[in-house]
Amino acid sequence: MSRIVILGGGESGTGAAVLAKVKGFDVFLSDKGEITPEYTEILRKWDIPYESGQHSEDRILNADEVIKSPGIPSDAPIVRKIADAGISIISEIEFAGRYDSAKKICITGSNGKTTTTSLIYYLLQQAGLNVGLGGNIGRSYAYQVATEQHDIYVLEISSFQLDNMYDFKADIAIITNITPDHLDRYDHSIEKYAMAKFRITQNMDKDDCFIFCSDDEITIRHLDQIVIKAKMLPFSQKKEVKEGAFLRGDKMVVRVGDKECDMFLQELALGGKHNVYNSMAAAIAGKVMDIDNDNIRRSLSSFQAVEHRLEKVMSIKDVLYINDSKATNVDAAWYALECQDRPVVWIVGGTDKGNDYSVLLDLAREKVKAMICMGLDNRKFHESFKGVVPEIHDVTSAADAVKLASRIAKAGDVVLLSPCCASFDLFKNYEDRGKKFKEAVRNL
Ligand code: ADP
Repeated sequence: MSRIVILGGGESGTGAAVLAKVKGFDVFLSDKGEITPEYTEILRKWDIPYESGQHSEDRILNADEVIKSPGIPSDAPIVRKIADAGISIISEIEFAGRYDSAKKICITGSNGKTTTTSLIYYLLQQAGLNVGLGGNIGRSYAYQVATEQHDIYVLEISSFQLDNMYDFKADIAIITNITPDHLDRYDHSIEKYAMAKFRITQNMDKDDCFIFCSDDEITIRHLDQIVIKAKMLPFSQKKEVKEGAFLRGDKMVVRVGDKECDMFLQELALGGKHNVYNSMAAAIAGKVMDIDNDNIRRSLSSFQAVEHRLEKVMSIKDVLYINDSKATNVDAAWYALECQDRPVVWIVGGTDKGNDYSVLLDLAREKVKAMICMGLDNRKFHESFKGVVPEIHDVTSAADAVKLASRIAKAGDVVLLSPCCASFDLFKNYEDRGKKFKEAVRNL
């Protein structure tokens, strides 16, 4: 019996451990931090030995293969030791892919992964297919492969997961876009980061499809550097494409082979230019999967926004509060501002990832009447937006941010939480930040 060691006891690590157990491996899971009760309970239930608060090298370095959770950097000391010992290190997705013959639709990119993944899942589910949703969303892919049976999986895949994928093959791969994010994990090289994203196309052959944004400069620049055998299906809002998706007047048109579907942009459930891109990607995937046009139109027009992504919380005295806590980088916030047609009180701030705010200045000048910086260190916002936005304030909690915003906003305005930053200075994560924001709005 070969021995599998799993590093990390979160959603993906626990799922991988369960699958390894089901497949008859000798399994051991190790997490240097705490493992939450939700996961220790699963490990106990499946009788999987584990440790937390440490990495026992003698129990790890005798593995035949190691499954590394995406949150653990590849230069962590234990990971280096495993690599030096010549032990193969793979991701949970790579591992689960070995035991799954379902069709796989895989989505990566800098922004729009969760939205596009959820849209495609919804579309296929509404069309009556037996489809699973996984990757970075909900229950891990490995856990589902161990305990459920689906004909199709829609998987959101981060570049950290792609880093340790070798033989995995997607049937349909999507890169939503590539903009600078997480560069700290890629030696501050956009090239390395982009190439990591393109790993989603590895092993694809001519029967597979690659869906990408041909308006995205970085994507296009890297397309020339690799060989992709899959059928290329670009989407664009700037020019007509032969196959893929494009705009014609006030409609979006999707064409795959001799199949065509069109739909009024106004009918799309999700507003904003970025969501037109996401809807295009989803509609192409739907067409590749042979979903009929009525089903595609119905799903794209009835989809409910995912929590923390331009989520309308409520209107109070005709001021609309929007939770876009997931906008943890500049590009996402750009799209959030871009689609506002009312004056904006903009709540920003958090942990800076080396952001360059200059691309936001024009939109801020045009739309933002006040900025509220919710972070421990707001200097960079002040420096960048001074003289661009009429007023800039500092707060250190969501409750204070919302109270202040409610005083500044007038009927007809929007209060938009779209922070451009990670949340770790004041919150557990972006979900925690979004939830506290919504709670504060409801308390008004
Ligand atoms: P991801 O899973 O890649 O982080 P999400 O769908 O969760 O993407 O969206 C993250 C943030 O990016 C949200 O603020 C959302 O409004 C914004 N966003 C969504 N789609 C796009 C896109 N295609 N381009 C730019 N920003 C986007």
